[in-house]
Amino acid sequence: MAIKEPEVLNPFQVAVAQFDAAAERLNLSHELCEILRSPKRELTIHFPVRMDSGRVEMFTGYRVQHNINRGPAKGGIRYDSAVSLDEVRALAMWMTWKCAVVNIPFGGAKGGVIVDPRDLSRGELERLTRRYATEIASVIGPDSDIPAPDVNTNPQVMAWIMDTFSMHHGFSIPAVVTGKPLSVGGSEGRMDATGRGVFIVTREACNALELPFVGAGVIVQGFGNVGSVTARLLHEAGCKVIGLSDIYGAIYSEQGIDVSRALRYMQEHGRLSGLPGTSQVDGKALLELPCDILIPAALEGQLTHANAPRIQAKLIVEAANGPTTTEADTIFRERGIPVVPDILANAGGVTVSYFEWVQDLQRFFWSEGEINDRLEQVMVRSFEAVNSKRLEESCDFRLCAYLLAVSRVAEATRVRGVYP
Ligand code: NAD
Repeated sequence: MAIKEPEVLNPFQVAVAQFDAAAERLNLSHELCEILRSPKRELTIHFPVRMDSGRVEMFTGYRVQHNINRGPAKGGIRYDSAVSLDEVRALAMWMTWKCAVVNIPFGGAKGGVIVDPRDLSRGELERLTRRYATEIASVIGPDSDIPAPDVNTNPQVMAWIMDTFSMHHGFSIPAVVTGKPLSVGGSEGRMDATGRGVFIVTREACNALELPFVGAGVIVQGFGNVGSVTARLLHEAGCKVIGLSDIYGAIYSEQGIDVSRALRYMQEHGRLSGLPGTSQVDGKALLELPCDILIPAALEGQLTHANAPRIQAKLIVEAANGPTTTEADTIFRERGIPVVPDILANAGGVTVSYFEWVQDLQRFFWSEGEINDRLEQVMVRSFEAVNSKRLEESCDFRLCAYLLAVSRVAEATRVRGVYP
């Protein structure tokens, strides 16, 4: 069991510290800081689900809307045994800045249920999802708060949420969630969108920092929706993916891993370990192996004061939300290792979720080529805006992304004024 950093591992404290650094630099008033630091709405629900055995089990879930001054709240739903109110608050706040940094008209939200879905049958998962969707139905809706997938939730879960919400209203309301299957109003390109965005930003960061991209040795932690797509696209673009991991362990090959083979192996075996031609390494040790680009794409709090001094990457791109603690961030800054922050790096998902919502509202759908072109434009433009600020203000990528995002949300908050 790894030793935890109790004072820095609370994700909400990390999120607030990141906001405070930007607010101080922007010279925001005390009142404005108080408003922007506070989640607007926090819903906690305890609800029963009938299990296959006939027994009733209680579950706890949350939906937090951090700030909705720039538009409806937007953010994923996570099913995980480690979900907590502070984690959901942090993720909701990061969504506010993420939507602002790519300049899409949404505020930030997040939801979660304390559950390990691996312990549930498909029927139990559906009943849990429909009951959770009913419990949060009073705060979600196409004009108010639009959920999406996150860790351990997928298009099927989104379809159940869309169906449950629609049943309550008596007609189909596809725009209530994004990340749905294509057959019920999902968007082309949404499945790959977050990983594609990470790929684009990684390529742009290498160009901006004059680091090699083609042939660069890459380690990706997490091989789910985000990690697997990121690894596949980097591999296809000529990077050498040397390390991959999932919850069960990590694999390494100095010669490079064929990511499409790893994907097939994962489909067959449900895990990466044992992929022929790779050696088995400890999941934590993988992060510290020599590489050019390290991409945490699993959970928060992975890069801490304990391992940051030993990280050997030349560039870190945060595909996961909040993978770097405040202390680790300081260590990377001192060591001159650039970190492309989550709010920029993984914003491709919410960008295509925005495209999906627009398509659902208009009942007019775009081709995959159109989606990917528009995503490319948004990610490149957003990266360039953050990078120009970095060169102007001589600060790191994270602070620059926050300066841009927080100033947009602060301006919307200031101009709307304090009601009544
Ligand atoms: P997912 O459930 O599809 O995959 C998570 C992966 O992480 C799995 O491969 C799992 O085995 C692995 N994992 C879990 N714990 C691990 C550990 N300790 N070490 C190594 N691997 C571990 O989830 P996802 O949707 O890919 O999300 C991953 C991260 O990206 C999360 O931080 C999420 O908030 C963030 N994110 C997701 C999206 C999206 O569109 N899905 C968008 C933006 C950000």
